[in-house]
Amino acid sequence: MTESYREFYRRSLEDRDGFWREQAALIDWQRPFDRVLDYGRPPFARWYPGGTTNLCHNAVDRHLAARANQPAIAYISTETGVERTYSYAQLYDEVNVCAAMLQALGVGRGDRVLIYMPMVPEALFAMLATVRIGAIHSVVFGGFASHSLAARIDDARPTVMITADAGMRMGKIIAYRPLVEEALRLAQHPPAKVVTLDRGLDRSGGRSAERDLDYAVLHREHSGARVPVAWIESNEPSYILYTSGTTGTPKGVQHDTGGYAVALAASMKHIYCGGPGETYFATSDIGWVVGHSYIVYGPLIAGMTTVVYEGVPIRPDAGIWWRIVEQYKVAVMFSAPTAIRVLKKHDPAYLRKYDLSSLKNLFLAGEPLDEPTARWISDGLGRSVIDHYWQTETGWSILAAYPGVEVTPLKHGSPSFPAYGYDLRLLHETTGAEVGDNEKGVVALAPPLPPGCLTTIWGQDERFVKTYFGSFPGKLMYSTFDWGIRDTDGYYFILGRTDDVINVAGHRLGTREIEEAVCGHADIAEAAVVGIQDPVKGQVPVAFAVAKDAARFSDPRERAALEHELLALVDQQIGAIGRPARVHFVTMLPKTRSGKVLRRSIQALAEGREPGDLTTLDDPSGIEQIRTAVAEATSR
Ligand code: ATP
Ligand code: MG
Repeated sequence: MTESYREFYRRSLEDRDGFWREQAALIDWQRPFDRVLDYGRPPFARWYPGGTTNLCHNAVDRHLAARANQPAIAYISTETGVERTYSYAQLYDEVNVCAAMLQALGVGRGDRVLIYMPMVPEALFAMLATVRIGAIHSVVFGGFASHSLAARIDDARPTVMITADAGMRMGKIIAYRPLVEEALRLAQHPPAKVVTLDRGLDRSGGRSAERDLDYAVLHREHSGARVPVAWIESNEPSYILYTSGTTGTPKGVQHDTGGYAVALAASMKHIYCGGPGETYFATSDIGWVVGHSYIVYGPLIAGMTTVVYEGVPIRPDAGIWWRIVEQYKVAVMFSAPTAIRVLKKHDPAYLRKYDLSSLKNLFLAGEPLDEPTARWISDGLGRSVIDHYWQTETGWSILAAYPGVEVTPLKHGSPSFPAYGYDLRLLHETTGAEVGDNEKGVVALAPPLPPGCLTTIWGQDERFVKTYFGSFPGKLMYSTFDWGIRDTDGYYFILGRTDDVINVAGHRLGTREIEEAVCGHADIAEAAVVGIQDPVKGQVPVAFAVAKDAARFSDPRERAALEHELLALVDQQIGAIGRPARVHFVTMLPKTRSGKVLRRSIQALAEGREPGDLTTLDDPSGIEQIRTAVAEATSR
């Protein structure tokens, strides 16, 4: 290690062009860029203007010379029992066939391809094929209900849609076709052609003769096809991805081509420490940004083997992930706190059952990582657990640790330091002035945003500027809409979303802090805290907690005793001001499909209102439990 992270970071901002010119050498360019950055129209940043490149070339073609026979994809489905690998040469063949299919269906440069698929290799082929020919993909998480799908169809207006007969979860078949049919009926601008991968799982849902095509039939027609790479100007879009909608209506986040490729290549080196020939296992889904960046593009651009896993973390048992780590010699793993909390309800012996010697670090992101969960998993694995913080909008992390530059000590509960290239500030919510150490502020980024970040909202430049850069009057600053704090050692902590702050008798409290206190109890697996209106105090916190062992607390007296202990814990850690007015016990929390707690809906129900937009909700029983808990408490 020759350079400290502090120095590396400083250089990324002070010698921005030099720094990002260096990083740009990590990918192949067909035509060199004219300049590193064009920032003539703030806040729109145009990285590497004039340069032409291609994501698919960088992820696939360029590895053929050195690693044609190395596995590119290790596909494991514990749902269907299918397990197979694809070498880079095989991936190249498959992507070319799929690209030929798309071209034959009339997809050209700049056209959108909507991909609504479960975790199957064909989903990756479709993504790579789309960018290969200069088209734009919009992946919609498989299993989103028909009206979410229809809304995304109408926003992106795809030429072609690629889907499958069904997905599978926990051994249950989830039919896609009836949802697709319904979405196509609801949509104002349905695609002209729909290609369906028939996995032999489900036959329901109609097929129309002029619209519907079968993946296998097209595959046979185009077998052996070769489709040249379309060289794309760096700033042309590669994909659109809708945010998870935890706080509002999903936005079509647009990413460019060159900047995104460079950002991912650089992150593989500096953050994840993943190199050619090694294996990367991200447990996310291709429907989320983590899936785009670290199931598909990041690992493949780096010449790694990427694990594509269809299944849940606890089937056939809670050791499945670690079996995969052993078998495929996973070097880098990426998951989410929500999944670790699921594992935490199971025997920790699973963490020691397999040979994990290949694993360097475990990265987590997506929501706040509470200290007990961080400790449980890092002690259990005997590995560093690196919390890192990012958004669909940024495409890669804003805060992280950088073992590829310098191994710095980790603090539980902190995603460490700002990522190189991000001019990160903590700003006072109303004045926009920078706050000091140990003072809470809104996490903001001074533009230009670094390579890899969103370039606009699809088709809505004005909404992009207004939504993200309109929080601090007189200051052009990107707001993350998250609260953060920096300690005197320079470590950052995310305190929750700016709309998760409640005002109790004039005291502003982050619901996350109260959640942390509640989760600190040994019997609690997870908790959500929301503020509800109170005639006296303005707002009061109410907690919804999930006990690790629900059966133990089926007795109301046991529950009352636990509630009492939890309130005492909050008193002790935050003060009586943060004490929840009630602790409701549920066995699950309502979450989005990406595993984020839907606090917006919980709050509405707790206040006796309707839960609002539930299009991204995963399991409806989560909402029902909140409704019931609230109703029972009011009737008592
Ligand atoms: P929407 O923007 O539509 O409301 P969303 O914000 O949930 O949806 P994502 O882009 O998937 O959509 O999530 C990013 C958000 O997740 C961050 O803004 C932050 O609130 C939270 N987050 C991500 N990583 C972390 C982390 N390591 N620690 C704390 N919070 C995190
Ligand atoms: Mg967001």
